[in-house]
Amino acid sequence: MTNRLFIIILSILITMAPIQGAQNVHTHGTGQWHIMSTEDRLVMTMKLPAMSIIGFEHKASTNKEKEIIDAAKKILQDPSLFTFYSTSRITKKSNPIPLITPSNQSVSMVVESAKTEAKDDAHDDDHHHHDDHDDHDAHNETHAEFHATFEYKKIDRISSISTTLFDHFNGIEKIEASIITDQKQSSAILTKDNPRIRL
Ligand SMILES: [Zn+2]
Repeated sequence: MTNRLFIIILSILITMAPIQGAQNVHTHGTGQWHIMSTEDRLVMTMKLPAMSIIGFEHKASTNKEKEIIDAAKKILQDPSLFTFYSTSRITKKSNPIPLITPSNQSVSMVVESAKTEAKDDAHDDDHHHHDDHDDHDAHNETHAEFHATFEYKKIDRISSISTTLFDHFNGIEKIEASIITDQKQSSAILTKDNPRIRL
């Protein structure tokens, strides 16, 4: 992948509408993890429903809520959230690489109101599909996500990456992960029992 193309894709990923509009509201319990690996860089972005991380999806209104958000951000900024593995060319065994610190990273909580679709208004008595969002107002849902990006200088021969995210946040049940490298595109579903993705 050329650097130019890489930068275009990166800027799309980063500037993408935070919650992607009312038609595509996130699912609580499900996170997104995008990994891009090029000749000289590895960039990862994560999008995690705030409900699954801190238990609410609104701006902090009390000091206690601010503390909860800050504590979550601290975990999401910890380099030990990820372990990189490389496969030995000789033994073919996969071994963890010593802790790697990103050259660049950011984490933020993005809060967005999403108006429900018009058809909902015609069925005021039927909001069963909101059961998993029972703390949200049916007509003006507010959602929030944690967005984190990590940029690393090229890490040699990574064969897989695992995350401890599931250990820190019980509310995250699965992560939809996708990978773009110079050679291929692939995706995988990660869970607490399978928190590792192959590159
Ligand atoms: Zn939500």
